[in-house]
Amino acid sequence: MRTETEVVIVGAGPCGIFQVFELGLLDIKCDVVDSLPRIGGQCSTLYADKPIYDIPGYPVVGAQNLVDLLEKQSSPFEPRYHLGQQVTQVKKQDNRFEVLTSTGTEFSAGCIVIAGGLGAFDARPLRTPGVSKYEGVNLHYKVENKEKYRDKNIVILGGGDSALDWALELHKIAKSVTLVHRREEFRAQPASVLKMKELSEESGGGMSCHIGRIPEIIEKNDSLIGIKVVSFEDNSEKEVLFDEILVFYGLSPNLGPIADWGLELDRRTIAVDTEKSQTSVPGIFAIGDIVSYPGKKKLILSGFHEAAIAAFGIQNYLYPEIKQRLQFTTTSPALHKKLKVDGTL
Ligand code: FAD
Repeated sequence: MRTETEVVIVGAGPCGIFQVFELGLLDIKCDVVDSLPRIGGQCSTLYADKPIYDIPGYPVVGAQNLVDLLEKQSSPFEPRYHLGQQVTQVKKQDNRFEVLTSTGTEFSAGCIVIAGGLGAFDARPLRTPGVSKYEGVNLHYKVENKEKYRDKNIVILGGGDSALDWALELHKIAKSVTLVHRREEFRAQPASVLKMKELSEESGGGMSCHIGRIPEIIEKNDSLIGIKVVSFEDNSEKEVLFDEILVFYGLSPNLGPIADWGLELDRRTIAVDTEKSQTSVPGIFAIGDIVSYPGKKKLILSGFHEAAIAAFGIQNYLYPEIKQRLQFTTTSPALHKKLKVDGTL
C-alpha cells in the first residue's frame, strides 16, 4: 500500500516530533517513520531517566518527560507514526519523493525532513572474546530500567559522560559500582569525574575505579560472572566480579541508508543551508543532530530552531503561491483553531 502525504519525517527524536508541531501550525500534515519501536530518539533510548537543564523555560525536565510533552504538544496535528521500520530508500520522481521502509511501507511525499540524529544506534561493542553471547543477559549497552540494577554489583565500562553519569546514578541504588576505563583521562564532565573519585576514596562507599584493558571474561556454569582487568602501568591483573555489566564505549554514528540518498554530506552529517535547513536536494530538508552548517551545535534547542525554519522552507517549496506571514501562537485566532485551544490560560 502506498500512502500519499505532504511530508515524511525520517526520525522521531525530539526534533522530528517538534517538526510535526511546526508543520502543523502551517497546516501541513506529516507521516513520521522511526526504526526504533518507540518515539523519542536519544532522549528515550539513551537517557530516559536523566534530567535535562537546558530546555528554554524548563529549569529541569526529565528526558522522557520532554518527549511526552512534545508528543502532547504535536498531537492536535494528528501525526501518523510508523515505528519499528527504517527508511531505506528515498527517490525523487516527477517532483514527488518515493519513500520505502524496511517493512515495505511506501509513501509518495511532497517533501522529506531528515531528523535521523546519529543515524542508526550502533553502540561500540566490548570485543573481549566470548562476551557477545551474554548481550541482553547480563551484558548491556543501555539502561532501560534502572530498577534492574537495585542492590546488585555493577561494572560499568567507559570514561565518557554516559559511563560516569550512570555510575553516579546507579551508585544510589546498587550494592556496588565498579568503573573500568582504558586510560587515566576521562572524557566526561570534570565535576562527574571528581564526584566519582571522591566516592571511590570513601571506605565502604560502594564505588571503585580501575584503569586497564580487559583481555578475558570470567565464566561459571555458562554464566558471565566477571572480567579480568590488566593494568597498563605494571601489568598486574585483577579479577572484577559482578551481577550486571554495562558498556558505554560510545555510539558509532552510522548514517545507514541515508548516506545513499544523493545528499551532500560533511563527515557523516548532512550539509544544510541556515535559511531553510534545506539539503543539497531541493525538497529534502534536514534538522537536529544529523545536520551540519557553520556554528552548528548538537543541542535539542538548536534542532527546535531548525524545525521552525524548515517548516517555512517546506511551505514555500510545496505552496509557493502562499504569502508567508509569521503569526504568534499567543494572539492568532487561526492558530488557536488549529491547536484546538481558546487562547486563554
Ligand atoms: P535523535 O534523538 O538521535 O533521534 C533520531 C531518530 O532517528 C532515532 O530515533 C533513530 O532511530 C531515527 N532514525 C535514524 N535513521 C533512520 C532511518 N533511516 N529510518 C528511520 N528512523 C531513523 N542535548 C541537550 O540539548 N541537552 C542535554 O542536556 C543533553 N543531554 C544528553 C545526554 C546524553 C547522555 C546524550 C546521549 C545526549 C544528550 N543530548 C542533550 C543530545 C540530544 O539528545 C540530541 O541533541 C537530540 O536527541 C537530537 O535529537 P534528534 O531528533 O536530532 O535525533
